[in-house]
Amino acid sequence: MRRIVICLRKVLRVAETPALLEVEHLQKTFEVRAGLRTRKLHAVTDVSFTVSDGRATVIVGESGCGKSTVVRLIARLLTPTGGTIRFGGSSYGGRLRRRELLRLRSEVQMIFQDPFGSLNSSHSIGYHLSRPLFNYRKCRTASEARERALQTLESVGLTPAGDYIDKYPHELSGGQRQRVVIARALIVEPKLILADEPTSMLDVSIRMDILNLMRKLQRERGLAFLFITHDLASARYIGDDLLVMYAGELVEGGPVDDVVSAPAHPYTQLLLSAVPDVERNTMLEGETAPGEPPNLSQLPPGCRFHPRCPLAMDVCRKEAPKRVQVGENHWAACHAVQGNPGPKVI
Ligand code: SF4
Repeated sequence: MRRIVICLRKVLRVAETPALLEVEHLQKTFEVRAGLRTRKLHAVTDVSFTVSDGRATVIVGESGCGKSTVVRLIARLLTPTGGTIRFGGSSYGGRLRRRELLRLRSEVQMIFQDPFGSLNSSHSIGYHLSRPLFNYRKCRTASEARERALQTLESVGLTPAGDYIDKYPHELSGGQRQRVVIARALIVEPKLILADEPTSMLDVSIRMDILNLMRKLQRERGLAFLFITHDLASARYIGDDLLVMYAGELVEGGPVDDVVSAPAHPYTQLLLSAVPDVERNTMLEGETAPGEPPNLSQLPPGCRFHPRCPLAMDVCRKEAPKRVQVGENHWAACHAVQGNPGPKVI
C-alpha cells in the first residue's frame, strides 16, 4: 500500500514539474597524447539525470570528477562521445547544425566560474549585454537593446543601471562583474541556466550576495538551474535536487534535504563529514577517505569508489553497483545500500 502511495506521489510530482532537460547515458572520452602513445581519458561515463522546469539541480563532487564536463556537454561547448541530451523535447545528440546550436544556446545560457575571464576588457558592459540580443535575434534596434540592458542590470542589483552600462569590466569589482555575467545570461530570457562554480573565485564576503541573487532570480522567473559546485553548503542553500558525482559517474541523487539528512552512499557520507561544523568544532575524526580519486584513464573495476571505501566488499571489486531506490525520488548506486522498504533497482 505504502509503495502504491509513493508511486502515485511520484507520478503527480512528475506531472507538476515536467523534465525540461533529460540526459541519458551521457559519455565523454578525451584522447590524451603522452609521448608516442595516446590514452583514453573517461571524463564522463554513463551519466543520466533530468532537470525539471523551475527547479534548481546541483551536481556536487571533488575537483576533476567530471561535473564541469557535463555542463559543457549540455551547452554543446563539447561534443558528447555517446548518450543523448533532450532539451524541451528536442534531441541535441551528435553533431549540430548552426541553426540548432543557436536555438539551443538562446534557451540554455551559461555562467562561468571566472568573472574576470568571462568578460572582454575592451568592450563596455552595454556591448556585452546587447551582443547576445542581436546574436539570437531577440531585438532589432540599438535603442531597444540598450533599454533591455538597463532593465536587466537593474534586476541583478546594479543600480542605478545608467552608472554601469557604459563602464568597462576593469572598472568593476569581482562581485559586480559576476552580476554582469548573470545579466548577460538572463537577457535572452533562457529556460535553463548552467552555472559552473559561479562563486568559487569570489571573495567569501560576496559569495552569499551572489547566491542570494541567483536564488531570487531563479524563484521569481521560474527558471531551471543546473548548478555545479564542490561546496555542499552552497548546494544545500541553492538546490532543490542534489546529484553526487564521483570519477565520471553519478553515485547518488534525490531531493537535496533527503540526500543531506540521510546520505546513502559512503562517498556522500564522507563529503558531508568533511563539511566543517561549528557545533562539533571540528571535522569528524577518522571520516576522511584514504587515497586519491582514480586516474580517469585507468578506472578500477567494479565500484570506482572501492579502493577508498570503508565498506568495500568482494562484490564491490567485481561488479559495478546499480541504482537502488532508497526513498521517494532518492537513489544511490551502492552494493551496501539498504532500501526502505526494500531495495529496488531502478
Ligand atoms: Fe563502497 Fe561497495 Fe558501495 Fe562502492 S558499492 S560505495 S565499494 S560499499
